[in-house]
Amino acid sequence: MKVFRKIGILSSGGDAPGMNAAIRAVARAAISSGVQVVGIYSGYEGLIHDDVKDFTVRDVSNIVNHGGTVLFSARSPLFKTKEGMDAALETCRRHAIDGIVAIGGDGTFRGATDLTAHGVSCIGLPGTIDNDITATDYTIGFDTAMNTAIEMIDRLRDTCESHARCSVVEVMGRDAGDIALQTAIATGATGVVVPELSFDEAALIEKIRTSRALGKRNFIVIVAEGLGSTFGEELTTRIEKETGVESRFARLAHVIRGGVPSLRDRLLATRMGEFAVDELLAGRSNEVICDVNNEICAVDIDYALILDRMYKNKLKEGDLDRFTKEQIAEMQAACARRRANIESLYATVNRLNL
Ligand code: ADP
Repeated sequence: MKVFRKIGILSSGGDAPGMNAAIRAVARAAISSGVQVVGIYSGYEGLIHDDVKDFTVRDVSNIVNHGGTVLFSARSPLFKTKEGMDAALETCRRHAIDGIVAIGGDGTFRGATDLTAHGVSCIGLPGTIDNDITATDYTIGFDTAMNTAIEMIDRLRDTCESHARCSVVEVMGRDAGDIALQTAIATGATGVVVPELSFDEAALIEKIRTSRALGKRNFIVIVAEGLGSTFGEELTTRIEKETGVESRFARLAHVIRGGVPSLRDRLLATRMGEFAVDELLAGRSNEVICDVNNEICAVDIDYALILDRMYKNKLKEGDLDRFTKEQIAEMQAACARRRANIESLYATVNRLNL
């Protein structure tokens, strides 16, 4: 079995609160197992340009409670080229890096798979506020981002009540409506619009009209980023025109990506980081660490990436060829569970938030 003497940690893609807690957990778990650790800066860019630093346990002190990522993050188009991969492998050789834990989203996992195929064992940790990695119930950063969003929306609601207004609020989430749906429930929003489900605009307009007639003063409507950059503003104009309720648009954007990580994200990041190191040291690689039914487990990266494509209806010819019938059935069941969850959250908003 491969003996690990040194492992690297990097964060890549969009940042998320809790990444630092994951970095700390990986470093501390490795060092406590007698394995050296290097921090790799700015994702795969740092690997290409040899921007790495030997870490002691003190290099990850006082970061568990901070948002962002002390290792910084960057997109690296160069890493997808042969030249970039060769430079990255050279850095690994120079520093004798045997394995890497890469924190990020699906792009980051693709990079990790490529590195594993070239002999550097990699494990991925799901770090993204969007919760759009189908294989895991929760991603690192999702909980904090929603807590920040609900704090902002609660404030908007106060002023909407004072002035008898409607606020249409756009939240991040890329193609996923998870942040929008859960914050809609938590803030008692009158309506929510997500890319996964069809939207009955006439019904929302009617609901606002009826509630206003019965004396309701404040209205919150949450829209997911995935609807497109102009959707929220245009909807705001239509709501005001059709209902007569003065309406304002607000985009929370990157503000929900920062800030102090919540207990839940710190806990998840710590458990996942520790698990990732134990997997590597046990000789396993090309895995993404997941939280399924509140249990930390490892899922093969190729499986996780194809499951994502299945969920997003983006499967390509031959994608399923390397999987068994049982695995495909398992993937279909996971997609169905996720869709049912989204529909159930949506139904709750429409039923309770009157
Ligand atoms: P995320 O990890 O949040 O999905 P990106 O999609 O931007 O973010 O991916 C982060 C980085 O991972 C990219 O800048 C690139 O270096 C690497 N990456 C993305 N896609 C691939 C790919 N198909 N093959 C190899 N590396 C990739």
